[in-house]
Amino acid sequence: MVDKKRLVIGIDMGHTFNPANYGGVGIRNEVEETRKVGEKLIRYLECMGHRIVNVTVDYADTQEESLSERVRRANAQRLDLFVSLHFNKFNGERNGSEVYTYRGRRLPAAVRTLNNLGNLGFKKTGIFDGSKLYLIKNTKAPAMLVEIAYIDSPIDMEIYDPELVARALAEGITGQKIPQACPNRREENNSSQYRFITKDGEIVDRDSKRNSLYRVCVGGCLSYEKARDITLEIKELGYTVAMEVIE
Ligand SMILES: [Zn+2]
Repeated sequence: MVDKKRLVIGIDMGHTFNPANYGGVGIRNEVEETRKVGEKLIRYLECMGHRIVNVTVDYADTQEESLSERVRRANAQRLDLFVSLHFNKFNGERNGSEVYTYRGRRLPAAVRTLNNLGNLGFKKTGIFDGSKLYLIKNTKAPAMLVEIAYIDSPIDMEIYDPELVARALAEGITGQKIPQACPNRREENNSSQYRFITKDGEIVDRDSKRNSLYRVCVGGCLSYEKARDITLEIKELGYTVAMEVIE
């Protein structure tokens, strides 16, 4: 991979929400965590000026369809790098991060990513031969599959923080520092717990206003299907709910 300024990067958040290609379930759930990390990662990379091709498939009838559709989207244009996000699972007793590349090549992005995950406290297991993995074998661009951590390891899940992992990956993939101008959503989220914005745009402390209209935000997702499903679920509980496109 050439370390030029503006990269075109394919991002794949592993697995589907339906059983066809459902990921590992342990202390957390792989398919959900790949989305959490992936959506944050994409925001950082785009903020850093790179172009992202999101090849994630949320629903597929078979595992083959899930994987081949990702490859089709990745190969539809020239990518500088293809990155697939996963979490490992064993029996709760293994822990650590590992990266798979074609023939175990030590791509600079793979080396940096593993080092950055190591800096967060995960055990650096290594860079391994992923030639037999469908995504690595069939994508044209230099590719790496990151097993971020073990989804069923108490050690890893104690260290795991989606925001910090996304930052580690963004800097590892690009070899560049995240500029200060790119917001750290974790800090934003923490502060917003104690404040809200009135109709007039005034930011006030949570307890200083009475008789206000409160809006409950459930969360955001990059997939229309997922947003629709959440909307329908809330509706079933008897609440009025609206789905908004915000960016
Ligand atoms: Zn996986």
